[in-house]
Amino acid sequence: MGEPSAPIPAQATRPRLPAVDEVLRSDVAAAALATHGRQPTTDAVRAVLDDLRRMIRDGATPVATAEAVLRAAEAKLAAAALPSQRRVFNLTGTVLHTNLGRAILAEEAVAAVVEAMRGPTSLEYDLGGGERGERDDHVRGLVRELTGAEDCIVVNNNAAAVLLVLATHSAGRETIVSRGELIEIGGAFRIPEIMKRAGARLVEVGTTNRTHPKDFREAIGPDTGLVMKVHTSNYVVTGFTKAVDGPELAEIAHAGGVPYVEDLGSGTLVDLAKWGLPHERTVSDVLGEGADLVTFSGDKLLGGPQAGFIAGRADLVRACQKNHLKRALRLDKLRLAALEATLRLYRDPDRLAERLPTLRYFTRTRTEIRARAEALKPAFAAALGPDWTVDIVDCASQIGSGALPVDRLASAALVAAPAGRQKGRALAHLSQRLRDLSVPVIGRIAEDRLWLDLRCLDDVAGFERLLGELARGTGVEAAP
Ligand SMILES: *Cc1c(COP(=O)(O)O)cnc(C)c1O
Repeated sequence: MGEPSAPIPAQATRPRLPAVDEVLRSDVAAAALATHGRQPTTDAVRAVLDDLRRMIRDGATPVATAEAVLRAAEAKLAAAALPSQRRVFNLTGTVLHTNLGRAILAEEAVAAVVEAMRGPTSLEYDLGGGERGERDDHVRGLVRELTGAEDCIVVNNNAAAVLLVLATHSAGRETIVSRGELIEIGGAFRIPEIMKRAGARLVEVGTTNRTHPKDFREAIGPDTGLVMKVHTSNYVVTGFTKAVDGPELAEIAHAGGVPYVEDLGSGTLVDLAKWGLPHERTVSDVLGEGADLVTFSGDKLLGGPQAGFIAGRADLVRACQKNHLKRALRLDKLRLAALEATLRLYRDPDRLAERLPTLRYFTRTRTEIRARAEALKPAFAAALGPDWTVDIVDCASQIGSGALPVDRLASAALVAAPAGRQKGRALAHLSQRLRDLSVPVIGRIAEDRLWLDLRCLDDVAGFERLLGELARGTGVEAAP
């Protein structure tokens, strides 16, 4: 946020500045004092008086009544009171948007977090025996039930899960990975880098596009700690390709006497094909194929808070739990509360698409989204004014966060096209206006137009209010 521009109109004679006390004692100050407190209000009034002094020194003649000073101070206070992390409308068309905080929590998870915030909880306390418990016990049983894993622990995110598995089972030893799977996700997660941090030696086998079973067989030796498969979350290699699939890789690893680990990335617990979505291997599929450990995220397809799961063979999971790194990577009571509540929803798959926002967004049909666009189009067009044409255009939403990188969901968008010649400038200006609303609206610019994909719009009434705010603004000029 930049400095608010305090509207200080000019007056004819050289102004006399009021004293700080005079401003604070005026009738109009009472509301500001009540809202913002004495110290912040005094500081803001001082800052405005400093601004005015500077302006007068530069030859300006601003209005400097106590009321004008207070109004300007209030503008400063209001800007300073805005939190840095704010709610926004995600109309980008990417459902799991990493920059916008990925999965939206279910109401059940929100309630569980609020409850956990307000008081002490049984975080590490076994209410049955009245003795010390383990924090991950709150989700362990659910994950076992939902995935068939023998055991499970949770950490800060999936990057942490991969780090902990490698540090526990491959430190000072080799981890064998196909060259085609040495992925980078979001710039900061690179398998070779994580491997180095974990003290594991990376053994790359095969080529970028083709890896064969014998590549793995020949690489396994006395120094091998793990055989690993990494889900190529954010890209696909097509054409002349060959990868070794899970079951065969598990067999090869086990014949060589080493555990087989898969970094699944998104980690879905249910077959999305049930809702007409693209099929994605579930955690229980991967365990069924013979993986000894699976790592996956909490805030991607699973639809929960940021977290990373390590699920699979009990002895291998316990070893991760005992690693001192686990202490540095563990989850706090709030996220554990959210995670437990989210996992509970999976026990009732019939109502999952209603209750879990991520799945609700995925399953929203183009017909529903178009109907919503039709209803909002007149208000949007009115808010933009005559310099813009507003249309409803079919588009394709992305799942995001590297989950199902090539699949698209049929959607529809409100699309605004500027009439004038300087389209780039008009579009940048409109995007800024949308970001400046009391709840910022984030869309996307493509093909010289601004797109608002309505797939993830839940709060329609709130969005309508914002369109009113946009309409009351100073007008969005599109013509050069
Ligand atoms: C997303 C992803 C990660 C990183 O997970 P975070 O939860 O963001 O830390 C790691 N591996 C794969 C394959 C992924 O898709």
